[in-house]
Amino acid sequence: MTGDLATLAGRLAAVRAGIDAACREAGRDPAEVALLPVSKTFGADVVAEATQLGLRRFGENKVQEIQLKAAALAADHLEWVVIGHLQTNKAKAVVALASEVQSLDRLDLAVALDKALQAQGRAIDVLVQVKTSSEDSKSGLAPGDLLAFLRELRAFSSLRVRGLMTIAEHSEDAGLVRANFRDLYQCRNRARDAGFELERLSMGMSGDYGLAIAEGSTEVRVGSSIFGARNYKH
Ligand SMILES: *Cc1c(COP(=O)(O)O)cnc(C)c1O
Repeated sequence: MTGDLATLAGRLAAVRAGIDAACREAGRDPAEVALLPVSKTFGADVVAEATQLGLRRFGENKVQEIQLKAAALAADHLEWVVIGHLQTNKAKAVVALASEVQSLDRLDLAVALDKALQAQGRAIDVLVQVKTSSEDSKSGLAPGDLLAFLRELRAFSSLRVRGLMTIAEHSEDAGLVRANFRDLYQCRNRARDAGFELERLSMGMSGDYGLAIAEGSTEVRVGSSIFGARNYKH
């Protein structure tokens, strides 16, 4: 299914307006909050339409999908950002195509990514995924393990650690969701106190980006509010 370009443009404008409104409400400058469009499950045809609206950087959670879309859209020189759980054996394929990984959550993955990057003579930005919710299904490092992990990451010169990422609990309880985001903000403060310069906080999705912005998000990852409902084939 190809989304109609005008529909896509309308949804994108609505999300941008929503980000601006949340920033105003929080007394923040909208220039402090980036939008990462999440194109997972949508085909290269839909991504191609999004590029016509000026989008160049896309969040994906599966390496195979990045491979397919990057091949179809090679001429567009797009940036692919990994936001999903990564298996260590995918590290080589990831560094061949991705400009950034936001789901770094364990040492063996850091080892594998760094090794593959060293082989290419390249470095990428990474965010450390922290599990601030209590849902079993979410991956990420426990907040209490963050500082030790950041210290270990210093050994990997090809990984530029820029910040933290989290996924809030899927809940109707805004207070609970906000608390998950506030936890990530506090993780960053503790990391800063320990000497780690982390500028970025990737938090907030279609259903909760307003709450994330209120709690200090610098980047919201928005899929369905831009591209429409996802159709998982499995
Ligand atoms: C799918 C996904 C998103 C976007 O979700 P929507 O609710 O569609 O906006 C954001 N972050 C991660 C990690 C995702 O997997």
